[in-house]
Amino acid sequence: MPLDEIKITRAIIERYTAKLLDCLDLEVAIVGGGVSGLVAGWRLAQKGRKVAIFERKLSIGGGMWGGGMMFNEIVVQSDAKPILDELGIASRPYDGEYHTADAIEATTTLASQAVKAGAKIFNLITVEDVMVRENRVTGLVIIWTAVEMAGLHVDPMTIRAQHVIDCTGHDVEVVKVFLRKNQPASLKTATGGIDGERSMWADVGERQTVEYTSEVYPGLWVAGMTATATLGTFRMGPVFGGMMLSGDKVAQMINDRLAG
Ligand SMILES: Cc1cc2nc3c(=O)[nH]c(=O)nc-3n(C[C@H](O)[C@H](O)[C@H](O)COP(=O)(O)OP(=O)(O)OC[C@H]3O[C@@H](n4cnc5c(N)ncnc54)[C@H](O)[C@@H]3O)c2cc1C
Repeated sequence: MPLDEIKITRAIIERYTAKLLDCLDLEVAIVGGGVSGLVAGWRLAQKGRKVAIFERKLSIGGGMWGGGMMFNEIVVQSDAKPILDELGIASRPYDGEYHTADAIEATTTLASQAVKAGAKIFNLITVEDVMVRENRVTGLVIIWTAVEMAGLHVDPMTIRAQHVIDCTGHDVEVVKVFLRKNQPASLKTATGGIDGERSMWADVGERQTVEYTSEVYPGLWVAGMTATATLGTFRMGPVFGGMMLSGDKVAQMINDRLAG
């Protein structure tokens, strides 16, 4: 039978629409498909949670593709090695405490495992705001990234979620917009606002990023570099264990909350 262009088009529209419709009401909405967001999505899906990741860019993977300064190898400390193993990412020991992995294998495998576990990933969608009801974050306001880039005057749409995780990295985009539009709301941080990322200190930054991974406002959680910046600890350079452990921790915490 000859290929039918209209059938191809219909297949794409029908399947995409069904996928998006199924994600209008989520247990967990993750903003940002970088390292921490993908690990969180993978783990939550593995636990049977209804979870979707919204990523602004065409490609997912955030800052992991480029390793350190575009040298596409990543370093992970021993604490996070079990996550690499569970995902099936090959790694090699380096001087005892450290392990290296190919950044491309790490990124593609992590994304693949998240999708295979059942997390839905929507790329090319920017989260521009949140929904708030009675002092609780209850969902996302989303728009096509192309609309944002073109500066078009087009209204966004919404996703309801019991829990929202800001995994937007250094930019802390969700927490920022929440604070800007919901004064006098205060976060569970030292200042009540975004405490701010500090200069490089890998050892403390890695540990505290995991420790600071938490719910900063009812329904709004932070993980990865967003936790680093929101609760104010040190940046840590191209070591990715803290990002993975942070994504894993936020998933476990939310799963426990949903179970309770
Ligand atoms: C300038 C710079 C400095 C860095 N410094 C450090 C450092 O000090 N320490 C360190 O460990 N790593 C650093 N990195 C590397 C990298 O950011 C992190 O290691 C790691 O990738 C962070 O993981 P993450 O999951 O927190 O966020 P990322 O991997 O950065 O992923 C965030 C994702 O969120 C998406 N996103 C952002 N806003 C939105 C939105 N509104 N809607 C939808 N999607 C959105 C982004 O497109 C991106 O894919 C740096 C990167 C850059 C660019």
